[in-house]
Amino acid sequence: MTKPTRRHRKTRIIATLGPASDTREKIEALFRAGVDVFRINMSHGDHASKEAIIAAIREVERSVGRPIAIMADLQGPKLRIGDFKDGSVTLEEGQEFTLDLDSADGDETRVELPHVEIFDALQPGIDLLLDDGKVRIHIDEVGKGSAKGTVVVGGQLSNHKGVNVPNVVLPLAAITPKDRRDLEFALEQKVDWVALSFVQRPEDVAEARKIIAGRAGVLAKIEKPAALTCLQDILEISDAVMVARGDLGVELKVEEVPGMQRRIIRAARDAGKAVVVATQMLESMITSPVPTRAEVSDVANAIHEGTDAIMLSAESAVGDYPAEAVEVMNRVAEQVEQDPSYKQGKIDERLMRHATAEDAITFAARQVARTVDASAIVCFTKSGSTARRASRERPDVAVMALTPNVAIARRLCLVWGLHSVTTRDVTSFEEMVGKSKRMALRHGLAGRGDRIVVTAGVPFGTPGATNVLHIAWVSGDELKNK
Ligand code: PGA
Ligand code: MN
Repeated sequence: MTKPTRRHRKTRIIATLGPASDTREKIEALFRAGVDVFRINMSHGDHASKEAIIAAIREVERSVGRPIAIMADLQGPKLRIGDFKDGSVTLEEGQEFTLDLDSADGDETRVELPHVEIFDALQPGIDLLLDDGKVRIHIDEVGKGSAKGTVVVGGQLSNHKGVNVPNVVLPLAAITPKDRRDLEFALEQKVDWVALSFVQRPEDVAEARKIIAGRAGVLAKIEKPAALTCLQDILEISDAVMVARGDLGVELKVEEVPGMQRRIIRAARDAGKAVVVATQMLESMITSPVPTRAEVSDVANAIHEGTDAIMLSAESAVGDYPAEAVEVMNRVAEQVEQDPSYKQGKIDERLMRHATAEDAITFAARQVARTVDASAIVCFTKSGSTARRASRERPDVAVMALTPNVAIARRLCLVWGLHSVTTRDVTSFEEMVGKSKRMALRHGLAGRGDRIVVTAGVPFGTPGATNVLHIAWVSGDELKNK
């Protein structure tokens, strides 16, 4: 039996798969370098190739003997312009330019914007951002199915470039017909997380949630200013959020993004929802085997701010150094987590707790673990809820989440500090204690003479709230005769 891999860090790493990384061998290498969650971008490629990638991840999971989470990232309502006669045009500052519904090829004066709903929401005075904000057009006049404006920031514009309309809640369906097909496919493939792009309102998440119906965790990507105005409500009905700094940096002023990152992480931590910091974390590693100092600081700061997970996008999907990028994240996370100021930061947090047995027990578990200098907290968790609340407390030691449900074990791979294991439920107190000790030993979370803190729900075997907190002593002989 290959020894189960135990991560010596609490922060989780997500890597986006793409042509640079999506074979069975490369996926295994990335897992061994430290990836906890693989992200599949539904914007590119067909279902057949994704099915093969998902099968490859599950093979790796079997061979390493650890649960691995798969995240399907839906494209969402991304606006794009149509085609140009010559493939591209160069727009000069001060010139007029029109967007309309005419499917004829565009030129220096106009191009198609094939989204009829948008023209009703546009108003004079709004700025349109094209190609990730490289070109900016100030709208002067809006007619039926067309909008005329002045180029404020000029540049080259080519076929199919993206369009952002900051500060306007667009009357767009959150889930496009393509998203519906991709979502159905992803659920058939039993992905563990579904990421929703360009969420604007809590209703957008609710709509997806209804279709997903508990079959995967729901992650809302925060990349629209509109979403920031209702962040609390979005958090409430999501299982996780992402600070999607790529589009957020286009829709907001770039200098506003770091403050928003802090705010989103704080709000997610308060709500007990997992939070991911994403995009351009190690951007220079797309072409370089080493990161810049500034990138290392950015990764470290996201961890200091309390994020659950950090993510690689192009670095692992199309870059020249996917494994090196994962190794850098792994090393930076291990280093930050050793830093006394990181530990101090966690102690200083003033978390609000709910008046539930679960919050009382997980809060106590963290304190007891510190008082008796335990080596791990072991949580028996059916839905994963107790394990998430235990993680929210940010204890000093790892939390082992024992669940009978493999889908839950996988889903928890995104969450800070959780080491999840699939195992049969226990039926008695004695069995609970015995299994906790054996699992902690087997997974390297406890050694001879260590103490562990165990949480569970009694009566055993009936789904119910966590209400037991127990301290157990590990002799080290528990695996004998087993
Ligand atoms: P994307 O989302 O990579 O799918 O655009 C992340 C972001 O916008 O930062
Ligand atoms: Mn985005």
